[in-house]
Amino acid sequence: MLASDLIRIVLFINSYLGKDKNWVKARYSYLCSTPVSIIDPETYADHRLIGEFGAVRDLPTPTEMKVYFGFDKKRRNFMCPRCVFGGVYGYDDREPKTAMLEPNKHDPDAVWCFVCGEIQPVERVLCTSAECKGNVISFEWGRCLNCGAETP
Ligand SMILES: [Zn+2]
Ligand SMILES: [Zn+2]
Repeated sequence: MLASDLIRIVLFINSYLGKDKNWVKARYSYLCSTPVSIIDPETYADHRLIGEFGAVRDLPTPTEMKVYFGFDKKRRNFMCPRCVFGGVYGYDDREPKTAMLEPNKHDPDAVWCFVCGEIQPVERVLCTSAECKGNVISFEWGRCLNCGAETP
């Protein structure tokens, strides 16, 4: 069985039988309840979750990502400032793009992350890196959400 098939089955079963239909939330509750997380529940669960979703993000199809996570892979995806810069960066040297411009358009100058669920303000200015065409900069961190470069 392929890893992508396994994840598909987990997501499908959880959407029908899970107490929490959103697998991110279900997984977070589980991680917070494990013995390791007692030392530092929030940090441990956050790190694990971000690592896991960085790994699985590319496996489900765009339709499945939309159904299970409300996340649109076909639109431009960005790093989540909270997940990537907020102390978790470098945890496993991956930079998962788990955020997209706020889907409900309440605030077009914000990104929403499907892992942590946070909405973070952004500025629409060009990234300072020559190789990057990004123009979505974290307001709080002053860093490009496409490549991570500092863009003051
Ligand atoms: Zn996040
Ligand atoms: Zn950039």
